[in-house]
Amino acid sequence: MINFETTEMVKQIKDMLHGMTKDIMRPIARYYDEHEHVRPKELDAFGPIMQAGMGGGRKKGKKEKKGITQTEDRIGTAAISVAGAEELAWGDVGLMLAMPGSGLGNAAIDAVATDEQYERFGKKYSAMAITEPGCGSDASAVTTTAVLDGDEYVLNGEKIFVTDGDRCDAVVVWATLDKTKGRAAIKSFVVEKGTPGFRVEKLEKKCGIRASDTATLVFEDCRIPKDNLLGDPEIRPEGGFKGVMKTFDNTRPLVAAMALGCARAAFEFTRDALEKEGIEVRYDRGMSKQSAIEKDLIWMDANLEVMRLLIERAVWMADNGRSNNLEASMSKAKAGKYGNLIVQKCVELLGPIGYSQKYLVEKWMRDNKVNDIYEGTQQIQMLVIARRILGYGRDMLS
Ligand SMILES: Cc1cc2nc3c(=O)[nH]c(=O)nc-3n(C[C@H](O)[C@H](O)[C@H](O)COP(=O)(O)OP(=O)(O)OC[C@H]3O[C@@H](n4cnc5c(N)ncnc54)[C@H](O)[C@@H]3O)c2cc1C
Repeated sequence: MINFETTEMVKQIKDMLHGMTKDIMRPIARYYDEHEHVRPKELDAFGPIMQAGMGGGRKKGKKEKKGITQTEDRIGTAAISVAGAEELAWGDVGLMLAMPGSGLGNAAIDAVATDEQYERFGKKYSAMAITEPGCGSDASAVTTTAVLDGDEYVLNGEKIFVTDGDRCDAVVVWATLDKTKGRAAIKSFVVEKGTPGFRVEKLEKKCGIRASDTATLVFEDCRIPKDNLLGDPEIRPEGGFKGVMKTFDNTRPLVAAMALGCARAAFEFTRDALEKEGIEVRYDRGMSKQSAIEKDLIWMDANLEVMRLLIERAVWMADNGRSNNLEASMSKAKAGKYGNLIVQKCVELLGPIGYSQKYLVEKWMRDNKVNDIYEGTQQIQMLVIARRILGYGRDMLS
């Protein structure tokens, strides 16, 4: 039975992060929005917290665990990670992504690495590089190659739009072992910064999350130890691609939680601003007696709750060893779309205050857009959900 109760431990983590994000992130959010590519040094203190709580806390032998009752095992890394992500994104999505310590690559390592690899890479601040100039939504179209040469893989290719790509310690790179063997030959590899043949080519200038660096990475005859291939090195025609795709089951709820945190920030700001003007939601009144603004606020509040429940279901399943591919996509589809709708609605309700740079709501509208793009766009989540529900393969629905 799913247990949605917020445990004391999660509550304490959220309270602690809430205070820190309010006092440290919010005051500097505008500065780093206006100074893209300047490293937010104020965040250095967060590094150890990120490593401890966000993808840096996998228990040894996680995959082998069996026979534990679900309620007892309710709180695992995934639940703690999304709780933290929501609170940090409430502070600022861009600054959250700019925090040293844990990137999307850490979620990939958590999902796919063996225990031995987890020991080596789990604490490295890691980005994730899938997207290429000719490959985005269809991750199976990756063209970066990895060729085994003795005890090393030699990587060649270009990755674009890599979050944390400049400031990270390592990158989880998706590459193909053999282009003729299709999806099954795609594997993920950890490439550490400073490895010869690996360079940051350029940084993007963006609409939102401007505190976070987004980089183009180039790999030219870049040699890495063969043990840096995450998971199973064999090309298995049946289910081979599922290994790397498992990464998304971890990262999608995380991104959904970021959308939730950002939308919640906008909702709370709007609700409080309206309250100051004497407009309060009267939840106990029938719909016909509520004003249009009250109905909008209730609509936002209810959707934030649905977003949260879908995220909690997805991470509960992950923490209890269940396949959550469908539920992870559902959480991301809902939170990605409604996160944006809610922030836009806040800007609308607030009028000039919403659009003015004096406040952060207009920034949250720009920032939250990305949560409906990376780790699979809205349209791709709907495809995954439809395929899963209908039992269709990619050949039947694409
Ligand atoms: C700020 C930012 C940070 C990012 N960080 C990372 C990162 O850290 N690592 C990484 O690997 N990538 C990252 N990305 C890339 C991101 O994951 C891709 O942009 C995304 O997956 C979409 O791929 P694409 O840009 O190639 O668009 P395309 O795949 O070309 O899609 C363009 C449009 O077509 C739609 N579409 C595509 N296929 C279908 C279909 N079959 N049915 C219906 N609609 C479809 C898409 O939904 C989208 O709206 C980042 C992107 C941004 C903007």
